[in-house]
Amino acid sequence: MRQSIPIIPCVLILILVAAGTVSAQSNPEWTEPFPPFCIAGNLYYVGSKGLASYLVTTPQGNILINSDLEANVPMIEASIERLGFKFKDTKILLISHAHWDHDAGSARIKEMTGATYLVMDGDAAVVESGGKTDFAYGNTPAFLYRPAKVDRVLHDGDDVRLGGTVLVAHRTPGHTKGCTTWTMRVSEHSKTYDVVILGSPNVNPGYKLVDNPAYPQIAEDYELMWRVLKSLPCDLFLGAHGSYFGLEEKYPLLKKGSANPFVDPDGYKKYIVQKEQDFRAELARQKLAAK
Ligand SMILES: [Zn+2]
Repeated sequence: MRQSIPIIPCVLILILVAAGTVSAQSNPEWTEPFPPFCIAGNLYYVGSKGLASYLVTTPQGNILINSDLEANVPMIEASIERLGFKFKDTKILLISHAHWDHDAGSARIKEMTGATYLVMDGDAAVVESGGKTDFAYGNTPAFLYRPAKVDRVLHDGDDVRLGGTVLVAHRTPGHTKGCTTWTMRVSEHSKTYDVVILGSPNVNPGYKLVDNPAYPQIAEDYELMWRVLKSLPCDLFLGAHGSYFGLEEKYPLLKKGSANPFVDPDGYKKYIVQKEQDFRAELARQKLAAK
C-alpha cells in the first residue's frame, strides 16, 4: 500500500509532461518524488528529488519553504501528510527566490491552505507578476506561472515567527534581486544547530554580470551575497536544490543514533568558496569580453 503514494504524482507528471510542461521535460528530477523525512528537530524535507521544500512544524501551525512547480504541489501535500502533519495547517509560505522552480505552486498552495505568503523585497513584485518582471526570464513564456499575492514584503534581517520558532530572512541577492537565505535554530538530542537554507549562489547561463540594464547592480549584489553567506554560522547545510548540499548522498546516511549527515559546516564553507570562485571566473570572462 505504501507504494501508492509515489505512484499518484508520477501519473500526474506524465500527464503534465505530455501537455508540454517544458520545465518538467528538461529537468525530470524536479518532479521525481523523494521520501519525506525529518532533517532535525521540527525541520522536515518535503520536496522532490531535484527541488527542495522544507516544513517547519510548530504548535500553532506550520511554515512551508518553497512551493516549487505547480505540478509538485500534490507531491508536497502527500509528503506532509505522510509525515503525519496536515497540509491545511500550513500557515506561512516562504520561498528561496522568485524563480518558477521554487514559487510557481504558490498561488495553488495559498488557495488550498489559506497560508500567508511572505516574500523578500526585490522578489515580491516578480512573484506578483507571475515571473514577467524577472530581469532574466521575464520574456520566456515557459518560465512564467500563475501570479500570487504577497501578503507581507520582507526586508533583510526580518524575522518570521510562529509557535515559538523564528526564521530569519537574509537578503542574498544576485541570482534574483530578492534571493533569500533562511536561517533558524533547531534542537535535537539536547544539541542546538544553526541551520542555513541557501537561496542560490549560482550565476545562471546567460546571466549578464556586466552592463546589464535590467539589473545594473547585479555584480555588486553578488558581492553582497558572498559577504552575507560567509558571515552566517552554519551547522546544518541546506538549500533550494538538493544538489547544493548533497541530498541524495546524505539521505541514506541518516540513521537513528549516528551523526546527522546534514550537519556539515565544512561542506557549507567549501561550497561557498567554490561558488564564489565560479562567480569570479565568470565576471572576469565577461569583463574581458566587454573591453
Ligand atoms: Zn533560480
